[in-house]
Parts: sequence; C-alpha cells; structure tokens
Amino acid sequence: MKRREFLRGAGAGLLGGVALSLGACATAVPNAPTAVPAANAPTTAPATGGEPTTAPAAQPPAQGTALPALEWQMATSWPVSLDTIFGGAQTVADRVSSLSGGKFKITPRAAGELAKATEVLDVVSSGAVEMGHTASYYYIGKSDVCAFGTALPFGLNAQQQNAWLYEGGGLSALQEFNAKKFNIIQFPAGNTGVQMGGWFRKEINTTDDLKGLKMRIPGLGGKVMAKLGVTVQVIPGGEIFQALQTGAVDAAEWVGPYDDEKLGFNKVAQFYYYPGWWEPGPTLEIEINMDKWNELPKEYQEIIKAAAFEANITMLARYDAKNVASLKKLVDSGTQLKPYSPAIMEAAEKAAFQLYDESAAKDADFKRIYESWKEFRTGIYGWHKINEAGFTNFVFAKVS
Ligand code: CA
Repeated sequence: MKRREFLRGAGAGLLGGVALSLGACATAVPNAPTAVPAANAPTTAPATGGEPTTAPAAQPPAQGTALPALEWQMATSWPVSLDTIFGGAQTVADRVSSLSGGKFKITPRAAGELAKATEVLDVVSSGAVEMGHTASYYYIGKSDVCAFGTALPFGLNAQQQNAWLYEGGGLSALQEFNAKKFNIIQFPAGNTGVQMGGWFRKEINTTDDLKGLKMRIPGLGGKVMAKLGVTVQVIPGGEIFQALQTGAVDAAEWVGPYDDEKLGFNKVAQFYYYPGWWEPGPTLEIEINMDKWNELPKEYQEIIKAAAFEANITMLARYDAKNVASLKKLVDSGTQLKPYSPAIMEAAEKAAFQLYDESAAKDADFKRIYESWKEFRTGIYGWHKINEAGFTNFVFAKVS
C-alpha cells in the first residue's frame, strides 16, 4: 500500500491518530531504515519506512482507502501462566491491535500449541506460522550465532544489551544473519534482567561438585556448563518442575524469583544460586517470517516495531518490580540463597571465552559478530565501571 493511500484512509477514520503518531515513532526507532525529513524540506511528510514520500502535507485526505484486516498467529516458547515472559508476546499483540484500530490481530499461543517451545524458529522460518516470540539461543543447534540475540555468558546486562542491539550495530548484524540463514526478521521484545543461577538439590562449592550433575540450562551457558562436566539438558519452562521433581535433572535454571516461584521449583530444590552468569541480560524476541513481513503495509511494519520496543521495556520493568516480593517469599519459605563461589565463576568465565574462540575459529559469521560484540563489551564495561559500578557499589553495600 502506498503511503499516500494510507494517509487518505487514515484521515477518514479511526487511524487518524495512528498516522500522526507513526511519523513520530519512525524517527525514534533506531534500527528502522528511516529517512528523517530534511529541515529544509518542510512539505515532505515524515517517512514511516524510508521510502521517499512526496505527498504534500496539506493535501486533504480522501475517503475509501484503508489498511487491510489481518489475523496472524504467534507461536511462543512459554506457558501462558507466566505473565512476565508470555506477557512479552501479549504486549506485542495488544499494542499491534490497538495501534491498528483493531485491524491487525495477532493471537499469541502457548508453547506446544503451534510449535514446541524450542521449535518456534522452525515454524516461523518455514512460514507455517507468521510470527513467534522466543529466545534465539534455543537454536544454537543450528548456529552459535543464535546466542547473540539472547545472551552470552559473562556478556551484557539488559542496559548494555539494548545499547549493543539498538545503537551498537548488534540488531542489524543479527537481522542480516537471520534473513540469510532463516528467512526471518527479528526484533527485541523483552528482557528478564540478570537471571538467577538456578536451583540445586545439593550445595555446589567447587567445580568438582558440578561434575556429573544433570542440569537444565540452554544456550551457550549450557555449553560452558558442559565444559565444566555438567550433563546439559534443554527442557521447556513448563516441564522443568516435573524433571526436577522426578530426578530427571539434579538442577535447573529458568529466570528468577517471580517465575521460578510460580513454577514451584522451591518445592523440589532447596539451594538457589546467583548470579545467573550465563544470562546477565537476556533478550526475548519476536521473529517474523520474511515473506510475511514483506507483504505487510509499511504502517503495520512500523506498528510491529513500536510494539516490540514497548514489550522490550515492559517485560524488564515487570520482572524488576515483581522479583522483589517473590525473592522475599522464597527466602521466608526456606529457600537458601547461595552465591556461586569465586572458583566456579572464574572457571566458568575462562571456559566461556575458550568456547567463543573455538566457535569463532570454525564459523565466520560467529567470528565477525563476536569481534564486534567483544569490542563493544570492552568499551561499555570500561564506561559502566566508572558510572554504574561507581554508584551501585556504594549504595548496594549498605543494603542488608
Ligand atoms: Ca535462564
């Protein structure tokens, strides 16, 4: 649909407000291929997607043209009971609906309905489902590059991850990779903040205590744990409780206090370790089949981008706010909080960077993105060591 036609339709009906706000949105979306109108071209309408627009701003809207009614399905990796992480998918769907005046309906579906939790990428890539909400690191079996979209052990916290993705070239590099490899386009649509380090039935003091343990842990964190002697399994969130309860695994990690308490892990394991060094700021994302994406009117593409931005910040805020009371509830009910020992942290960090070097040596895509990521990490660590750590080290030391 041409922009001029949209403006005519939009001016005629419910979408009038959307048309106005879209122009403003577009210039605020850093990853959008947006052409900001030049200051000396006041008669050019704000672009929504980079295409040159020539419609004079003062031209009155005509009647009769409107954006199409669409209904999409969204496969997710989550149980509906987790209003935090499934909530990311729901936020996207709700906002797309409201920003399109109810014309573009997306229905998020629980893990297992349209695809298994760890096969969302597959059904989106094939086009069987239009879009999904998932964690890209579930798919490292296809390429280790998939880890960057979520988290790397000893990598970036949520703030740094957003900086890398939106302003450090990360998102565009991963979009290029995903288009080529999977025929999808993805946008960040949620972050959990620094996760917890998982539930164990027995204390883990040394690296020897890890050897032979069976643990649920996905992503490159799982590969690091494997280097430390752990037998790693990837089990969907909704099935972890049973695996812990039956002893199919000795340990498991999911996210943090709010989700973990909801899933009942404290009932079957006593020791709750921190920090989740493998997920310091994991991003969840929406993934959209590229053919379906290309068929969308530009306005709908912009609405999806804006909705994803909103989900990205809403999920983090929700986790940060909800984890406070849940952690207290867990500790009050007998959960024992334990920090990972410095020996385990050091061994894990060393194994992580060995793993990255190994992946870079055999995968040119990983090498290219890793080098850029690592340089960004070094830079922002240096800056945050001054401002963020300078502040937080002082104030947090006073909290009991
Ligand atoms: Ca996790």
